[in-house]
Amino acid sequence: MATEGIVIVGGGLAGATAAKTLRAEGFAGSVTVLAAEPHPPYLRPPLSKDYLLGTSGEEALPVAPEDWYGANDVDLRLGSRAVAMDPAARAVTLDDGSELHYASLLLATGAQPRSVPLPGSGLEGVSTFRTVEDSRRVRRALAGGGRNVVMVGSGWIGMELAAAASIYGNTVTLMGLEEVPLAAAIGPDLGGFFRSLHEAHGVRFLLPASAAEITGSSGRVTGVRTSTGELLPADLVVIAVGVVPEVGLAEAAGLGIRNGILTDASLRTGTQGVFAAGDAANALHPFTGEHHRSEHWSNALNGGKVAARSMLGLEARLDVIPYSYTDQYDVSMEYSGFSSLVSGPPVIRGSLQDKQFVAFWQREGRVVAGMNVNWPRSAKPQKAIKALIASRAGVSPGLLMDSSVPLEELPA
Ligand SMILES: Cc1cc2nc3c(=O)[nH]c(=O)nc-3n(C[C@H](O)[C@H](O)[C@H](O)COP(=O)(O)OP(=O)(O)OC[C@H]3O[C@@H](n4cnc5c(N)ncnc54)[C@H](O)[C@@H]3O)c2cc1C
Repeated sequence: MATEGIVIVGGGLAGATAAKTLRAEGFAGSVTVLAAEPHPPYLRPPLSKDYLLGTSGEEALPVAPEDWYGANDVDLRLGSRAVAMDPAARAVTLDDGSELHYASLLLATGAQPRSVPLPGSGLEGVSTFRTVEDSRRVRRALAGGGRNVVMVGSGWIGMELAAAASIYGNTVTLMGLEEVPLAAAIGPDLGGFFRSLHEAHGVRFLLPASAAEITGSSGRVTGVRTSTGELLPADLVVIAVGVVPEVGLAEAAGLGIRNGILTDASLRTGTQGVFAAGDAANALHPFTGEHHRSEHWSNALNGGKVAARSMLGLEARLDVIPYSYTDQYDVSMEYSGFSSLVSGPPVIRGSLQDKQFVAFWQREGRVVAGMNVNWPRSAKPQKAIKALIASRAGVSPGLLMDSSVPLEELPA
């Protein structure tokens, strides 16, 4: 039994990055990663994009080469779930009944797809989407084309899956509660841009609409009945209606929970020796002075690094500007900033019609978020956007939309 050292609960990007950072910082004590899934930590973004489309393979997924853990004396326990924690005893109980003691504990338990209590959701051909198994199963269903596919959910994952389904030659209907897809993330104007992109590829939108029932025959899905009574034929239904942070362990142990595990900017929870990172953490962000829970790759990556340094007693704060990206058809998009600070529609540089633009969102004259679509990488749009946000400098909409002023020359 380990009596000291670091235990990481969760073998996703945040947990694995923390383990890598601990060793990179020279930590020589024991590091144990408890990973409920049967695979070494892997990246999820390809699951709904290139991996789903078959344009990248298994090699694109691992966070670290499989032999990295053994070579670096990290005890990676696959298929091992922590079922309880006792902060007073600094102990974690595993699903095999054994106990691990820790000096520091990182909760990097991620998130789970939100479930909807729909009649028929247990039928074969109905899926949520989070794991590599989900991606493989959905790819098998989509790859031959010619199927009726219904996506329930108009957020990023639903839209990426709709793109893949359509590229494979399936008939796709996407339904969701919003009037415009992605409106909650990027507002109606740019949500409308993505909607038009999909419609040009034949995707049908039913918005706003909710599913009332999934119909089936002999245990297999045959359709989705909407709340207005329309019956959509379906060979595959994917429910992608968001995620909920996995906070069960922390909650049962009495840690502070509010839309995730509450932490300070150094990813310390209010409980001695316990840290949280990634999708599960709701961390204080120094830029806004508010708690911010991000469900994005860069937050898990940076959070894993910060948590590791914090556990070692080093000065570390998660103060990077949140970043995310998506690829759909011929559109490659990156976004940085704080959607919670946005007030009003974006200012556009470039052309939505040409599918090449930068959108800036402002609040009181300052840029608080920005998104570049198919913008030349040589212009380093994300670097410029992040510098603008970080500077808190006032900048006029006219200057933001003036393509003759290079992005890097905008006030910062
Ligand atoms: C399909 C898909 C596409 C995405 N695309 C993008 C994208 O394009 N851009 C972007 O920025 N972000 C994207 N994301 C989001 C990004 O992948 C997540 O933010 C990131 O995976 C979060 O990492 P994490 O380590 O916090 O959590 P997770 O990846 O969820 O890992 C947590 C792990 O902990 C395990 N676990 C939970 N509880 C326990 C326990 N008690 N004991 C042991 N193990 C436990 C879970 O099984 C899981 O394996 C995507 C996500 C998905 C699902």
